[in-house]
Amino acid sequence: MDTNQFNDLINQFSDLLSQPEPTPQLDLQDSDLTSTDWNTCLLVKVVIDRRIGKQALHISLIKSWKDYPLLSLQKFNRYSYVARFNSIEDRDAVYNQSPWHFNHDPLALIKLNGPPTVDLLKQLPVVLWVQFHGIPSRALTFQGVWKMAKLVGTPVPVHPDTARLWSVFARLKVQLNAANPLKDKIKITLPDNQPVTVFLYHEKAGKVCLYCGLMGHEIYECMDRNKYMALIQSYPAELHQILMQKLDPKFGPWIY
Ligand SMILES: [Zn+2]
Repeated sequence: MDTNQFNDLINQFSDLLSQPEPTPQLDLQDSDLTSTDWNTCLLVKVVIDRRIGKQALHISLIKSWKDYPLLSLQKFNRYSYVARFNSIEDRDAVYNQSPWHFNHDPLALIKLNGPPTVDLLKQLPVVLWVQFHGIPSRALTFQGVWKMAKLVGTPVPVHPDTARLWSVFARLKVQLNAANPLKDKIKITLPDNQPVTVFLYHEKAGKVCLYCGLMGHEIYECMDRNKYMALIQSYPAELHQILMQKLDPKFGPWIY
């Protein structure tokens, strides 16, 4: 090819040559956690003090949330996952229909509006049905029990006619923070100055430690109690019996 032919060829393809070559951007992330509409996502943690296998959780959530298809479940950290839905409406419907469980353990659900952070997990909002026992019948009103529920957590709004279903005890859905110990009872004073202790029963709370009151483990698995038990061994043997009394359950077994 001589110089002229070469120039002709260049002119002929000049248009093509001037086109910038496409440079596809490669997504090097392991998941779609970087490019998500966060408003369609929930941060999910099973309230249990051990790791949960992603596959088992994914299968369980697909079944539980069959009316609101789960688009993906991505691992966020060792203990929590990001669940992504088709729409904000689907995400909110799942959230509003709490409580949800994995096996027998409740789920803490956090609505995301941006990328998840570890700080978000300092609060673990869990909705449970709470029964209120020991309320005198004259105080078993919707308004009265609503105020008691506010001493326990954030009651989930419900029609006041619900109170008609109550007889021996009252029952409301309450959002609790599973990062704090559950309460096993509340003390109130009625308008006629009568003091009353109301005992709380948390339905389907999973494991609850009767020593520290936290959900997610039982008393024999309690880190605080086991640490204290180890400490006792460093004291003289004659003190053991007195010190061991501190290891007795502090919460009533009616809690769950
Ligand atoms: Zn404990």
